[in-house]
Amino acid sequence: MTASVSALAVLPDDVDATALLAELRTWVEIESHTPDVAGVNAMVDRAEAYAKACGLTIERQPGKPGYGDVLIVRSGQAGEGEKGLLILAHLDTVHARGTLANRLNWREEANRIYGPGIYDMKSGALMTLEALKLALATGNGPKLPVTIVFGPDEETGSISSRDVIEAEGRKARYALVVEPARDGGKIVVARKGVAIFDIGVFGKASHAGTHPQNGVSAIREAAKIVLKLEALNDFERGITVTVGQIEGGAGRNIIPAECHLKVDVRLPDAEAQNEVLAFISGLKPDDERISLEIAGGMNRPAFPRSAAGDALFAHARDVAKSLDIDLVGVTTGGGSDGNFTAALGVATLDGLGADGAGAHTHEEYILKDSIKPRTALLANLILSLE
Ligand SMILES: [Zn+2]
Repeated sequence: MTASVSALAVLPDDVDATALLAELRTWVEIESHTPDVAGVNAMVDRAEAYAKACGLTIERQPGKPGYGDVLIVRSGQAGEGEKGLLILAHLDTVHARGTLANRLNWREEANRIYGPGIYDMKSGALMTLEALKLALATGNGPKLPVTIVFGPDEETGSISSRDVIEAEGRKARYALVVEPARDGGKIVVARKGVAIFDIGVFGKASHAGTHPQNGVSAIREAAKIVLKLEALNDFERGITVTVGQIEGGAGRNIIPAECHLKVDVRLPDAEAQNEVLAFISGLKPDDERISLEIAGGMNRPAFPRSAAGDALFAHARDVAKSLDIDLVGVTTGGGSDGNFTAALGVATLDGLGADGAGAHTHEEYILKDSIKPRTALLANLILSLE
């Protein structure tokens, strides 16, 4: 289906960017680091109140222990067996409480607005509610029932919200993910799979000065494992293995009894997945006095391109063209909740949030002038998908 400019029901100037940015500032200033349950739930409260004020139906489900709540917002009822439109957002950020005061206060510099989680992805989350509100205010409203899931834990792998996302995914014909746009407003049409591992290395403690020979250093063995893991990196094939965090030892003068590694793995396809996962699960210590505990596995399955996904992208491109947006699709190594819906066979597009840069850093910002056109793009996608 091709939309022309005149046929667009929602135009960029229909978006009240001033009001949206005022609300966004409140969202950004509610710090909601994933493990900070009180912070995340304060953010859920705000999003819930906003969605209610838009006249939308709300469901709120408690998270698993250690996680904030999942917020589900709906408009329209799906008939028996009818599939709808699912939009995925998350309200957590990677920034610990205090980031706002110390490193990344809300500040506007020309076209840029900085703040913790503003780009990844409070802007996209709020733009979605705004877009749905605008879509509902047009003559006929959306053709499909629309469900938005706001997750509390995307940044740590959606361990708590995955069941809800997949349950809603099974009821969806399309999934739109409002993660931030890639440089220049590109959207995401495929993502690598993500595996995560926690590796515990256990040796034997001893006094480093008097009885070093009685100890077995867990750190020494862990260091070897780090090198074995990092040797799996194959940028050409798109395989990446990163030991991102290491913790071990009890003090300078103690042979370390324990060391723990946190490992991140990105895999482009099933072949790479089988190969790398088998290697990691089969790791053996060089020193037989060491024991290993290896926990983890696939966290997010690969989100490959598909015919249905390509058709959805072609439609989005047409709608975007009417808004003078040249929509470009890219593949990325970053996983998102879109991996779950794509793996269920649901046509999925990702990266539909605001344009900007600096996700997961203290230089995180959005481009102010991307708000109106991209909110209008979302609204017209909500209206035109059938
Ligand atoms: Zn994100």
